[in-house]
Amino acid sequence: MIKQIQWFPGHMFKSLREIREKIKLMDIVIVLLDARLPFSSMNPELKKIISHKPVILLFNKMDLSDQSVLSHWMTHYQHEGYQTLKIDAQTGKNTQKIHPLAQEVLKEKLTREKNKGLKERPIRTMILGIPNVGKSTLINQLSKSSATKTGNTPGVTKAQQWIKLSDQFELLDTPGVLWPKFDDPKVGYHLAITGAIKDKILPEDDVVSYALNFMKTHYPKRLEERYGIKGDLSYVDMLDTIGRLRGCLLKGNEIDYQRVYHIILTDIRGKQLGGLSFDRLEHVSV
Ligand code: GDP
Repeated sequence: MIKQIQWFPGHMFKSLREIREKIKLMDIVIVLLDARLPFSSMNPELKKIISHKPVILLFNKMDLSDQSVLSHWMTHYQHEGYQTLKIDAQTGKNTQKIHPLAQEVLKEKLTREKNKGLKERPIRTMILGIPNVGKSTLINQLSKSSATKTGNTPGVTKAQQWIKLSDQFELLDTPGVLWPKFDDPKVGYHLAITGAIKDKILPEDDVVSYALNFMKTHYPKRLEERYGIKGDLSYVDMLDTIGRLRGCLLKGNEIDYQRVYHIILTDIRGKQLGGLSFDRLEHVSV
């Protein structure tokens, strides 16, 4: 069991303070969550700060997640009153739906402006999310989109504190990094397994042990298909099976556990074991 750790509290409070200060300037807040971690990648303090603002929750890395678990989470957040959309920022899947959704959420405000004779303008937003969730990748995608072809140079242009991504969105020039917060060790493990927090922060052996046992409980077929692991093997037996299968051996036929850890984490973070979701609605009290 890991100790309760307050991750980077200094940074965390600074970024939350900054968000609180700037929130009035935004039309809408975009929160990027990891589709595999709809709970662990959300910051509970942030939820309070944005409670009076229009918000879109984007579930990024949908391609890496378990679609049925993700859809339960999306319904859950919709019941809490959030607009939701699942995306893959890397390929751009569904990213073209973000602007129409934002327009829909802001319909009244935008119509009011139009009725006053004001020109159509980009929507002012801020993209918030934990490290590695895909903020820069999404910003790149958004800067490619343009509803109307203008003669302007495409890409990111900067004016005062706003960065114009396209004729659709302007971003506030503040880093939208949100430090994850957790008291529950499970959340820490889920962040570590997906690579959201650095491998060095939690003991690798603990992380891999948690991951393999999680896979054994929730995705036993995938373990069997990829590694030939069948039945109720202990953690060490699972490691040994994978190690032998992949030829991770040291002198004297000892298993090279470091290499096995690396293989498992790489497979889990990629698509080799199929779409995986670590946060489960039934396991968290929200
Ligand atoms: P940031 O720290 O939030 O800005 O995250 P980045 O945009 O740097 O993304 C972190 C990593 O996740 C990079 O390797 C991206 O290529 C990858 N990534 C981002 N979005 C997606 C996605 O939708 N699917 C997959 N598979 N990878 C993604």
